[in-house]
Amino acid sequence: MCGAGPAGLATALYLQRLGHRVVVLERFAEPRPIGSGIILQPTGQAVLHDLGLFEATRALGTPIDRLCGTEGQGRRVVLDVRYGALPKAGRGLGIHRAALFHVLHEAVLAAGIAIRVGCGVMAARDAEDGRRSLMLADGRETEAFDLVVDCLGAGSPLKSLSDKPGRSRTLRFGAVWASLPWRGENFDATALLQRYRAASVMVGVLPIGKAAPGGEDLAAFFWSLPVEDFEAVKAKGIVAWKKAVLAEWPETAVYLDNIAEFSDLTLARYAHYTMPVPVARGLAFVGDSAHSTSPQLGQGANMALLDARALYLGLQKHPDDLKAALAHYARLRCWHVRLYQLMSAMFTPFYQSDSKTLPVIRDLFVSFIARIPPAPQFLAALVAGSLLSPLKKLGLKRGPRV
Ligand SMILES: Cc1cc2nc3c(=O)[nH]c(=O)nc-3n(C[C@H](O)[C@H](O)[C@H](O)COP(=O)(O)OP(=O)(O)OC[C@H]3O[C@@H](n4cnc5c(N)ncnc54)[C@H](O)[C@@H]3O)c2cc1C
Repeated sequence: MCGAGPAGLATALYLQRLGHRVVVLERFAEPRPIGSGIILQPTGQAVLHDLGLFEATRALGTPIDRLCGTEGQGRRVVLDVRYGALPKAGRGLGIHRAALFHVLHEAVLAAGIAIRVGCGVMAARDAEDGRRSLMLADGRETEAFDLVVDCLGAGSPLKSLSDKPGRSRTLRFGAVWASLPWRGENFDATALLQRYRAASVMVGVLPIGKAAPGGEDLAAFFWSLPVEDFEAVKAKGIVAWKKAVLAEWPETAVYLDNIAEFSDLTLARYAHYTMPVPVARGLAFVGDSAHSTSPQLGQGANMALLDARALYLGLQKHPDDLKAALAHYARLRCWHVRLYQLMSAMFTPFYQSDSKTLPVIRDLFVSFIARIPPAPQFLAALVAGSLLSPLKKLGLKRGPRV
């Protein structure tokens, strides 16, 4: 297993459940999460429930009932997705990435799975017996493995080994992020709130619960911008940046007070990439190494968890035929991944782009149409990750209510 993110840790647990000897290779000296908060959708929650980790995750996260975006300094609601429009879809769980990592990592350790740290994977090499070994950044070569699972995220160096690698498209817009103490006044403890100006400015606040048991409640704060502009923004100074944020959303002052300098913010870059065939001989791609996109629909970690379950089912169904097992895995995830990648590619420019027309269409039509049934139900299902019923396909039921 390469990579100790959500994909790698969940896959390690599943493969060990099948009785395989699993080794996780991670580049960091200490396994650790990168980034701020995410929304665990009912799909991801169901996988965690299947792994016996839902209660521990729920204890750290916080329920999310709706995603609400406003324009014109909060005067016009242009996006209002309510999970409640489709009660059977469940609702979201805002969670700090460190909390999700903590739960999965503890489970991996408790299961006795070996995590080798300081192992930067650079390449895979064919071993004589049809297996694969891995070349590491420090020049070492690992033993040969029957199956290498690439969970190295969007920047994986192994992608080109796929039977059909596809092309990656770097997105112009990224975002700066920070996890900050939660401030309830003027914010909604059960909603992702976003504020837009056209599609070029987006500020967001997402409640994400606690980073660790007993910790304080946190929010993920983000500001979207073209990645290439970040140096210019930094050159103008933190005061000028805060002024720009406050001009869009004055109430965020309570969050900005906790940001002293740009080093308190993390820049996230996004690439849109869908690997047409997420397998090769002795190799499976799981999570962002197989498909990545902007986080507009909040699905990435959930997709990674669904992938892990699908690979488990493939290997369970064909215990003695790895090729058939991998083909089954690819089939199980094919349409759900493609649909969500397509939806993300379609929706993202309405919220993060230089387009002048798309935000006008968004504000005039989309916000209006979105209120007429069955659009609210469709949007709830879209955000919950449940279009095309991925849980049913993977033999899972929705987990307990958040
Ligand atoms: C700002 C932002 C907001 C997001 N919001 C959401 C959201 O609300 N909901 C959601 O579901 N998803 C969200 N996502 C997407 C989500 O974070 C990813 O889809 C998810 O983390 C993918 O998991 P992964 O395990 O495939 O990859 P990663 O999380 O990227 O993990 C990869 C692991 O591999 C390790 N690694 C990388 N390269 C090497 C190497 N060469 N050798 C060894 N180890 C290596 C890394 O250190 C890491 O531990 C968001 C992403 C971003 C950037």
